[in-house]
Amino acid sequence: MLPRLRPWLAAASTLLGNPCLGCREEAPAGQPLCPACREALAVRPPPRVLDLEGGALLTVEALWPWADPARSLLLRAKADPRGPEATHAVAAFAAAFRRRPGEAVVLPPLHLRRRLQGSSLPGACARSLGGEVLGLRGRLQRQTGRSAADRRRGQDGALLRPPRAFDRHRGRALLLVDDVLTTGATLRACARSLQQARAGPIRAAVLASVE
Ligand SMILES: [Zn+2]
Repeated sequence: MLPRLRPWLAAASTLLGNPCLGCREEAPAGQPLCPACREALAVRPPPRVLDLEGGALLTVEALWPWADPARSLLLRAKADPRGPEATHAVAAFAAAFRRRPGEAVVLPPLHLRRRLQGSSLPGACARSLGGEVLGLRGRLQRQTGRSAADRRRGQDGALLRPPRAFDRHRGRALLLVDDVLTTGATLRACARSLQQARAGPIRAAVLASVE
């Protein structure tokens, strides 16, 4: 084979093959995942319970653990929110979680902005549950350069404000939606700000959770 043809042939075989959305190995024709990844992604991690101030708890359910193959799939989904990995992740999220009757879906602030621009993975997950999507305004404090203990103690919520029209949602049940749960600082800050606005019961659902 002429050496200069090899890259072209490699690209063509990638295009023509059916790479698994998880591991990029060949998947059976017409299927998004290879059998090993399908099996791995069928296992939901146990819910995590985050401590809020005042003895309140926030239960966070995750679709997948933050480990391969979910991790690789989600990194590609975040890089290309319109690609096949994102489509697959959002569909899996919608199949796993249900919005309860009367419950409103809430997004952390940054995600609302991206949602309006149509390119946010958490935004797409939130929309996939149907019904109203509310957004928190304000900014989370930067988390870089702060220790995990600092973040857990968390003044992260200081700059968060509930949505402008939140008054009419007082006492309403809320479902916070985010992509990856790591320390929980973001969701904790959101939940605290919503509690201050006298929300009803709050729970959370994410695509993946660090164990
Ligand atoms: Zn695979």
